[in-house]
Amino acid sequence: MTQITKISASSAEKFSQQIITWYEKQGRKHLPWQQNKTPYRVWISEIMLQQTQVATVIPYYQRFMESFPTIIDLANADEDNVLHHWTGLGYYARARNLHKSAKIIRDDYQGVFPHKIEDVIALAGIGRSTAGAILSLALKKHHPILDGNVKRVLARCYTIEGHNAQAKFEKALWPIAEKLTPSQGVEKYNQAMMDIGATVCTRSKPLCEQCPVQSSCFAFASNEQANYPQKKPKKVTPVKETIMVIARQGDNVLMEKRPPAGIWGGLWCFLEVNNQNEIQSLLKESNLVINKTTLLESFRHTFSHFHLDITPVLVDCSQDFSKEINDVNQHKWYNLTTEASVGLAASTSKLINQVKQKYIY
Ligand code: SF4
Repeated sequence: MTQITKISASSAEKFSQQIITWYEKQGRKHLPWQQNKTPYRVWISEIMLQQTQVATVIPYYQRFMESFPTIIDLANADEDNVLHHWTGLGYYARARNLHKSAKIIRDDYQGVFPHKIEDVIALAGIGRSTAGAILSLALKKHHPILDGNVKRVLARCYTIEGHNAQAKFEKALWPIAEKLTPSQGVEKYNQAMMDIGATVCTRSKPLCEQCPVQSSCFAFASNEQANYPQKKPKKVTPVKETIMVIARQGDNVLMEKRPPAGIWGGLWCFLEVNNQNEIQSLLKESNLVINKTTLLESFRHTFSHFHLDITPVLVDCSQDFSKEINDVNQHKWYNLTTEASVGLAASTSKLINQVKQKYIY
């Protein structure tokens, strides 16, 4: 049953003190984005960490900051280059939004990350929790956060009914987060709450014996940790199918840039058709003559909302590839012997490696 969530000032203070004490002893303080903290550095890390583990993010973060050390560097960068630095991280809208927001900050804020939370939320791809995290961690501003990890800790401590996909669940948690977040030490408190959610109050088998707020946790007291948050009702994930056409001439394969919106927006991918009969007419549009067609092994790529079953077809063809094809901005011959310098979808990288291994080297 949901507990009455009238939290007294003294119990809120006790809670936040326990969290801060835990942070001093056990909180993570040595991650790359925790050094020389600036709103820009924290912003990049917070966006990369959405739906991605710390260990995966670290090398991406380091390469990104090396190439784009300031907001202005990011704003002035070519979109292909930004997406190239995101290749393999997934959820590419995050990179496009970072780039878009960097341009807004360059043009409207003289390149200085805004300090008001409403201005930060107005940027692309930044919600209330991420804005609060950037401003509190980098500038010690008094804002609560409510990412997936913090939601889990609070939902268990105060036995809040619901699950992450429900607006009413989030609506019930914000006042609790506001009440508990201290004005002094907010940067430590918010960092610790994220860390505790990620490492102690884990989704399954939480380590309650190591938890600094065990004494305030209603779910622990009633041994109901597994019931909070509730599980999202399972939906059947739809399956879609596509045929990817790898048109090849020697070491070169034909790629096209996807439109900015939709899956793999702005990334370079292989051409697609719905059935194999369409391959010939598709390649004819680009003055390509088919010499040989080889069916490669099919595989499944899973997005957050559907599975995509991909059948790759390698098509050896002839044409003078030094000549531009159609719109040169949307189509490119990519040389398999060179390193990519544009954003590639994970499935494209996978196919490139497959073709390299089996047919080029
Ligand atoms: Fe989570 Fe257990 Fe701590 Fe409660 S006591 S907040 S369930 S780790």
